[in-house]
Amino acid sequence: MTIELNKLINFRKHLHSIPELSNNEKLTSRAIMEFLSSCKPTELLSDVGGFGIIATWDSGQFGKEIVFRSELDALPIEELNEFEYRSQFKRVSHKCGHDGHSAILCGVAQYLNIHNPNKGKIRLLFQSSEEIGTGAKAILDDKKFSELKPDFIFALHNLPGYSLNEIIVKNNIFTASVNSMIIDLYGKESHAAEPEQGINPALAVSEILCECISMDNNKPEQDDMKVITPVFVELGEKAYGISAGKASVHFTLRAWDDTILRGLENEIEKVCKRIATDHRLKIKFKYLQTFYASNNDSEAVDIIRTSGNNLGLKVTEKEYPFKWGEDFGLFTSRFKGCMLGLGASENIPALHNPDYDFPDELIETGVNIFTDIINQLTN
Ligand SMILES: [Zn+2]
Ligand SMILES: [Zn+2]
Repeated sequence: MTIELNKLINFRKHLHSIPELSNNEKLTSRAIMEFLSSCKPTELLSDVGGFGIIATWDSGQFGKEIVFRSELDALPIEELNEFEYRSQFKRVSHKCGHDGHSAILCGVAQYLNIHNPNKGKIRLLFQSSEEIGTGAKAILDDKKFSELKPDFIFALHNLPGYSLNEIIVKNNIFTASVNSMIIDLYGKESHAAEPEQGINPALAVSEILCECISMDNNKPEQDDMKVITPVFVELGEKAYGISAGKASVHFTLRAWDDTILRGLENEIEKVCKRIATDHRLKIKFKYLQTFYASNNDSEAVDIIRTSGNNLGLKVTEKEYPFKWGEDFGLFTSRFKGCMLGLGASENIPALHNPDYDFPDELIETGVNIFTDIINQLTN
């Protein structure tokens, strides 16, 4: 093994201290570029699909092309931790462990610096804007990536709630198909004393909430799981002389595959249009943050299982997918690939919590898993 663990841990802490929001990962990208250039890749590309990076180690010999992907972005959350390397920025912090995922890929870069692959090509892909669901698409649309033909793409996500270093895998769907839906209703304002002169969307909002929530089937063990979560509702303004004239209802929708999710969106649109017509309202729909379901290729999952066994790690087969969304799903819709879960221990705060921090013990494990995959596929 040829990684400098202390250097990687310090680098992870440095990334943690300079968190940046999606689409804005300038300092993070620059720091990683600097780190990678010391690992002598054959090719190093920046500004891929935003602030993304591709570092390639090319053996010059025919063989498999393998991509490992990590994310660059942090979240709009105020960090509660008080340690030395806490976020330097207000209301932005690494609460999904993307600092750790990136440090793991930097460890793979250190390994590749010493062990150039025997055949094929290894590419490390650092991607912007995972949290808002636009990063993977931006990478796929960028010529620097769209011309590549990877045989496999791999990624990992740390998972609080599972024992430290436990590998969590599943064939086929690994993470849900997710979309954010905004329903805008337009009526007419009037004097609050004379609501009958206007068109107030309040009743329509309550009917939309009741009817849509009743379509929810939050049963992960079932193939037709549907999760409909109200996340934000707005009606009128805080102006007490005015009867509200517009409203907005925001949901996140989840299902196990993209087709079921599209069906659910249509169903909700139909219900909302009927309610809007009943109440003489105009209606508009908007969608944000589309996450395609991650679909793990069985051959790629087998490679991970083998790595787990080679490294003596516990490998857990997940019974049904995770309900969260991951924009890695877009990569698995184009290439054979696999996302694996890496247990981050049962006793740490959950992802996206203000006191969460990536456990540094996972850096070595992550590097070991990815380098074992390299050895399986390039020897
Ligand atoms: Zn996240
Ligand atoms: Zn994440």
